[in-house]
Amino acid sequence: MTRFDVIVIGAGPVGSYTAYQLADRGFSVCILEQKRTAGQDVICAGVVSKAAFKRYDLPTTSILSRISSVSFVSPLGRRLEYEPDEIFSYVIDRKDFDGKLLRLARKFGAKVGLRHQVHRITESNNTYTVHTDRKKCRARAVVIATGVQADLAQQAGLSRPQKFLYGAQIEMPYPCKRTHVEIHLGQNFTPGSFGWVIPSHSGHARIGTIISRRGKTYLKKLLTDRLDISAKNLDAMKIKRIACGPVKRSVRGNVLSVGEAAGQIKTTTGGGIFYGLLCSEIAVDKLVKTLKKGKNLQDYEITWRSALISELDIGIRLRKIAEQLSDDDIENLFTFVKKNRFWVELLVPRIDFDYHSNVIFFCIKSFGALLKLPNTE
Ligand SMILES: Cc1cc2nc3c(=O)[nH]c(=O)nc-3n(C[C@H](O)[C@H](O)[C@H](O)COP(=O)(O)OP(=O)(O)OC[C@H]3O[C@@H](n4cnc5c(N)ncnc54)[C@H](O)[C@@H]3O)c2cc1C
Repeated sequence: MTRFDVIVIGAGPVGSYTAYQLADRGFSVCILEQKRTAGQDVICAGVVSKAAFKRYDLPTTSILSRISSVSFVSPLGRRLEYEPDEIFSYVIDRKDFDGKLLRLARKFGAKVGLRHQVHRITESNNTYTVHTDRKKCRARAVVIATGVQADLAQQAGLSRPQKFLYGAQIEMPYPCKRTHVEIHLGQNFTPGSFGWVIPSHSGHARIGTIISRRGKTYLKKLLTDRLDISAKNLDAMKIKRIACGPVKRSVRGNVLSVGEAAGQIKTTTGGGIFYGLLCSEIAVDKLVKTLKKGKNLQDYEITWRSALISELDIGIRLRKIAEQLSDDDIENLFTFVKKNRFWVELLVPRIDFDYHSNVIFFCIKSFGALLKLPNTE
């Protein structure tokens, strides 16, 4: 039976990046992944901020397009433009991105076990045994980075995500500008939420919705009613659950969960890569202190919560408000902002691709009365 300092379960971006950082710090690391290759069958719009690329060692060769403007499109098709005059996010090829992050971990010395589904973690005398369908490995600490499939976290005495959204997406030929994203609003096709058109590779776009209900109906409506695309031959349309909200417990002993497995995901947009990487950075810092200096790993929970909790909470609050809005409310909001252009000047400086609480608080305070929201404080 092989022994490591840390076993990371799941070779998504967060698991591989965690393994890479630990291996880079001189720890013996093993990463176990159930699929045949990293990034296999991933469903993701692939939008990652420029700031994330600046902060972390991410593969720039996975970038398909660079985004410098967004149109918010109202239920009646009116537009509000966000054009900050600079590139602020990238659209990536997720299969390539995940594969390259796993290679990075391997390059720095992490051992990789593909096609190893972990089904149990046991503990005895401060040593953890990770049982896969093919072998057992031992380690001083375990990182669960299994994404939305968090059964293992629960089995290890941590919590699993309780609330979910459903992302539906199709990638198809579609004429769009390579630098521009469209966000579509309308209770008919994206109730309480939004849909997107995101340029991917040349002449193609990822078109999708993220809503609180399962099913392909709303994406079909976005395609037919809004984008005028025939909804025939939509076999390539895929649906996936997205964790919405932080888990109650993400650490026990020397086992922790990170990334989507811990609900470290933007509750506004469902974007999980940046918050996952951020929490992976925190996890590695705490693991190093635990394994080298015998410090308590419980600090991990406190640190990532204080970094993200207001962002995660405000997103959930915004979703509750959005569920109550009618199309007329959304049109009124567009009319108000368009008439009073100074609002754009007040709003735009508050927009941050990764942290949304500032602009959301501002909007709730400013537009609460206009939208007749019950609680605007
Ligand atoms: C439609 C849609 C659009 C999205 N768009 C964006 C976006 O634009 N930007 C963004 O940042 N995020 C987006 N997301 C969310 C993003 O895809 C996830 O947040 C991200 O993949 C989470 O990374 P992770 O490493 O935590 O988990 P994952 O990427 O899910 O990786 C988990 C890995 O663990 C493996 N695994 C699971 N269980 C086991 C086991 N028992 N044993 C071994 N291996 C196991 C899985 O096979 C998988 O490879 C989107 C999601 C959806 C559904």
